[in-house]
Amino acid sequence: MKPHQPYEAWIFEEDLSQEEQQRLTEHLSQCEACRSLREKWLGTQTELQERAMAVPRAGFTQRWKTSLVVRKQREQKKQAWRVFWIFSGVASGVMAGVFTYFLTQISLAGWLELSVEMIHQVLGVTSSIGGVLSAWTRLYPFPLTLFMVLLFLLSLLGLIALWLFALSRTFQEGKERA
Ligand SMILES: [Zn+2]
Repeated sequence: MKPHQPYEAWIFEEDLSQEEQQRLTEHLSQCEACRSLREKWLGTQTELQERAMAVPRAGFTQRWKTSLVVRKQREQKKQAWRVFWIFSGVASGVMAGVFTYFLTQISLAGWLELSVEMIHQVLGVTSSIGGVLSAWTRLYPFPLTLFMVLLFLLSLLGLIALWLFALSRTFQEGKERA
């Protein structure tokens, strides 16, 4: 049986002199046991290195996936808000339009009459809202008022429905993409 020392120890050594390296190589060429030990050690080292590389890579992939999902969700939320603001803007525009139409339709005398009724209402001279309403209906025939109110409500409902539809589609698209 050949003496395995110091060769056994040298197998795990990283800094060997040129002479030591030469003697180790010579021993390995003759000793089956040390050769097998060296192979095992090299195999273990390779495995450790691979694992050390694999762990951060897995972490990176996970982080990248998470950030992608977060980015997607943020984009969806932004899109939903964009849709909300656009439809809110359109709804406000329609409301402003209808309101402006009413304003331009009322004459100065009508405005005064309505104002007086409102002031009466606020001061409690008139006990009910009926005064304001009667002033309004005196300015406009009832069917016209009803028509305008219905038109206004319908356009508002239509806008809300359209907005909800767009919102649900935005989220649906996001779900399909995810
Ligand atoms: Zn040996």
